[in-house]
Amino acid sequence: MSEFDVIEKYFSSAAIKRDDVSLGIGDDCALLKPVAGYCVAVSTDTLIEGVHFPAQTNAIDIGYKALAVNLSDLAAMGAKPAWVTLAISLPDINAAWLNDFMLGFTDLAQQYQLSLVGGDTTRGPLSISITVMGLVEESQALKRSSAKVDDIILLTGTVGDAQLGLQAILESWNPDMFQWSINKLNRPEPAVNAGLSAAGIASSAIDISDGLLSDLGHICSQSKTGADIHLDKLPLSDELRRYYDTNIDWNSILNGGDDYVLCLTCQPQYYEGLKKRFEEKDLILYDIGTITQQTGVRCYLHGDIVPELTAEGYNHFAAKK
Ligand code: ADP
Ligand code: MG
Repeated sequence: MSEFDVIEKYFSSAAIKRDDVSLGIGDDCALLKPVAGYCVAVSTDTLIEGVHFPAQTNAIDIGYKALAVNLSDLAAMGAKPAWVTLAISLPDINAAWLNDFMLGFTDLAQQYQLSLVGGDTTRGPLSISITVMGLVEESQALKRSSAKVDDIILLTGTVGDAQLGLQAILESWNPDMFQWSINKLNRPEPAVNAGLSAAGIASSAIDISDGLLSDLGHICSQSKTGADIHLDKLPLSDELRRYYDTNIDWNSILNGGDDYVLCLTCQPQYYEGLKKRFEEKDLILYDIGTITQQTGVRCYLHGDIVPELTAEGYNHFAAKK
């Protein structure tokens, strides 16, 4: 099979029809027709085997997650998914692998009416680079830079499960006992609907990919503020609570990452309105703390500060020990 057969067989067939795609896969460029008055939100994420997913991860999960983490960025901007391109590097042409990969990919693409409009296919170590594009009204976009002192800090879902799933895989724990956490790692649900519900109301947003402390830290530094968060209020799944029992590993929960829930901030006077929007869509919001004038992110447990909990989100270029 040639590169062109692969494109035809696996990728062209995944192109969902949309009125705002004038020309999709097959030419030198795709031609897209955004609606007047909207911004196109664009984001790229690359997944490399061994760095972003363990080598034994199955192809369905890779296809799903590669798209999910990109959709999560659109969610964090309050944008509605529209178009996607896929640049993929494959060690060889493996039909079964490609089939499964596209099953996972298409599962999400269809759910959000996201049309695959182009990409690139090359030979090399497995790596997947996806660019998603979405639409958002300029005034409604959820930027990182606009949190204000006294804003309420919110999460749209639980944190900490995925890091445990990763640990379970890397340390070869009994997979039957940790399937719930491995599922959270491999199948994160992008918070697209939460982002759309928060657009125009929340003051800022970020998706948690590197860990709550690190990612909330980005909102704080870009907004020139700080944050106090209360660990007693942190949403943890029942399974994670049962696993830790009385000995909760906060560092791992706060710095593990791969959660892909949104961290939002909201001015107190808009909080009721935001909650209402979320309730109408059966979405949940957890209030975990407050934006402060004092810079830095501080964690409190039972009212006392926990000084040893600091951000150490994943840094690809950190010196190897
Ligand atoms: P070019 O040489 O102009 O870059 P290619 O031969 O790489 O064109 O690609 C041919 C067409 O197939 C283009 O429209 C391109 O966007 C599309 N394409 C290539 N690889 C992929 C892929 N992995 N997913 C989706 N579309 C792809
Ligand atoms: Mg090309």
